[in-house]
Amino acid sequence: MVGIDQVLEKLSTVIDPDLKKDIVSMGMIKDLELNDGNLKFTLELTTPACPFNVEIEDDVRKAIAEISDLKNFDLKVTAKVMEGRSLDDDTGMKTVKNIIGVASGKGGVGKSTVSLNLALALSESGAKVGLLDADIYGPSIPLMLGMKDGFMEVEDNKLQPADSNGLKVVSFGFFADQSNQAAIYRGPIISGILKQFLVDTNWSELDYLIVDLPPGTGDIPLTLAQTIPITGILVVTTPQDVASDVAVKAVSMFEKLNVPIIGVVENMSHFICPNCDDKHYIFGEGGAKKISERFNMPFLGEIPLNSGIMSGSDLGKPIMITNPDSPSAVAFRKSAKNIAAQCSIIASKLQEEIESESSGEEPTPEASTN
Ligand code: ADP
Repeated sequence: MVGIDQVLEKLSTVIDPDLKKDIVSMGMIKDLELNDGNLKFTLELTTPACPFNVEIEDDVRKAIAEISDLKNFDLKVTAKVMEGRSLDDDTGMKTVKNIIGVASGKGGVGKSTVSLNLALALSESGAKVGLLDADIYGPSIPLMLGMKDGFMEVEDNKLQPADSNGLKVVSFGFFADQSNQAAIYRGPIISGILKQFLVDTNWSELDYLIVDLPPGTGDIPLTLAQTIPITGILVVTTPQDVASDVAVKAVSMFEKLNVPIIGVVENMSHFICPNCDDKHYIFGEGGAKKISERFNMPFLGEIPLNSGIMSGSDLGKPIMITNPDSPSAVAFRKSAKNIAAQCSIIASKLQEEIESESSGEEPTPEASTN
């Protein structure tokens, strides 16, 4: 009769394509029960937005099918997001597993649009997601969510984020009187506001907190990088942005600060002809891929130009909600999965470092952030 060792041996032939490790040693097999040829277990993925969830489940079923003598097989698939940042700090953000800063070299590349729609795509996958609009000089998230009159309450000295489409949202735009004055705020005041938004907010349990940063390399990106451990930075570019090289400056700054770069998403990368579905790279092709190669960081997706994105933003109706089957929404979903996968890779590396520190051994170079 088949034994548990045999089952685990078979399962350990299944490799997570992102983490490049077998699912048994990654601890993805839970609650395994084997009684009289009846097998039951849970496959726990590292994120509900895993780009390979179907493949991994298929591989598990194939591996189990190779075991003879099994009468029944009952598989449950769940996901538990890994911690992509050290929670070993005193900042009060221990319930936020991943913090992703979204940066760009210059304004107008669609950074806020991308931040919002990626947050919605991650949330749609089943993850708990927060969105912090840290663009204090020009907060646009409230408008994009149709929450221009939104506000945040304070309870027990903590800001209560607003709820919108399943997201927990914090924005300077919710402080109507003050947002008009933001342009006059400088250095320490701006840093103080961001710190408060980060650590004095009741985020509750979050798998991913997306932080929409102002463009460039000013006080806010610097404060985010230096205040709390973050999972990494996502860079948003457009084909024109690449030509002007400004995105490169932003990437270099974060690299100097030793903040991991999760990867690059190219927005407005092409136009899909509504009549023939052909892709037209109006502003040139492959710019973000070149940046990704130059900085050895993953290329995580390309979002098409779509007038519906713009009109929807102005009306407070994000495309992920209003047109979830559109090519733009499909592109956001694909990029969100790639981002979640990169966060899992960073988390796996972090876990390995923590384990090797406690055992005094060097970490193996198996899982890489690039
Ligand atoms: P940023 O945050 O980089 O300043 P925004 O997200 O505010 O940029 O976007 C700038 C403008 O471009 C907005 O009007 C937005 O609706 C529009 N936009 C962003 N991405 C796209 C896209 N893929 N297709 C069409 N319009 C877009």
